[in-house]
Amino acid sequence: MPGDALSQDPAELRRRIDTTKAHPARVYDVFLGGKDNYPVDREAAAAALAANPRGYLDVRHNRDFMRRAVTRLTQEHGVRQFLDIGTGLPTAENVHQIAQAVAPESRIVYVDNDPVVLAHARALLTSTDEGRTDYIDADLRRPDDILEQAAKTLDFNEPIALLLVAILHFVEDEEAYPLVRELVDVLPSGSHLVLSHLTDEIHPIPTRAVQRTYTERGFTFVFRTKAEVERFFTEARGVTLDEPGVVTAHRWHPGPAPAPPVVEQAYFDSLDDIEKITYRDINDVTDDDINVYGATGTKA
Ligand code: SAH
Repeated sequence: MPGDALSQDPAELRRRIDTTKAHPARVYDVFLGGKDNYPVDREAAAAALAANPRGYLDVRHNRDFMRRAVTRLTQEHGVRQFLDIGTGLPTAENVHQIAQAVAPESRIVYVDNDPVVLAHARALLTSTDEGRTDYIDADLRRPDDILEQAAKTLDFNEPIALLLVAILHFVEDEEAYPLVRELVDVLPSGSHLVLSHLTDEIHPIPTRAVQRTYTERGFTFVFRTKAEVERFFTEARGVTLDEPGVVTAHRWHPGPAPAPPVVEQAYFDSLDDIEKITYRDINDVTDDDINVYGATGTKA
């Protein structure tokens, strides 16, 4: 039944939420200017920001890549089903809002293993008569679980867009490549893979300094080169990279930015200023600023 994950006992959920340790989803939320984070997450974000003061741009451009990719797949490729693994905390524009704004009948299955994301998942579950969204509390490392539960909402005979957006840096190589291959194998012809990934090959010094701040806090944090990101596509059977291939996130089919709020500040000095960052600022970047690759592929 849709929403099974949400029937979890609140006491059990509280037990799973550790507010003494920074969590990737909540640190990411800090960079997006969200409110669903704890002091320990803000401290981790501050350490990352000290290591790379422009690092918030990676997060925001990553999210904007996701928005453009979902819009494009819905609008131009007629995709109506999305499997988003590593959803993150609900923010202003989530996959279902983006897809259902174009095609209200779109179906979305969200997957995350973070209990805080689970606690907020109801905000993602706005099924309508036409479209549907579901949430699965599961781990990317258990693809069988994900696929079994996703099949309750998605039709695996029709094209599906699999989103692995800013999640694979939490998985080491020996698991990551086989996992992507396994997930793509069950997708029907005409499906798509949407993938983004942090890299240290553009700006090695600050990005590795950021990596240290995360590994010190117990996160796995794997960077991959462009060639290693391409490998996810070439190793997935039947998948061809779409134009323009693997590029930095802001170079992937750039479009007109959403209406910018009016603050002119291009840099910020403290976490308190994060809320002032605007789309105008994030468009004012050089190629040097962005350390995230994005790409999509199509399955024959
Ligand atoms: N895809 C979103 C959020 C990225 S943050 C975006 O790009 O905007 C990464 C998310 O992946 C977090 O919510 C984290 O909880 C989740 N995640 C990390 N490892 C995971 C795993 N092994 N299984 C499921 N989710 C995972």
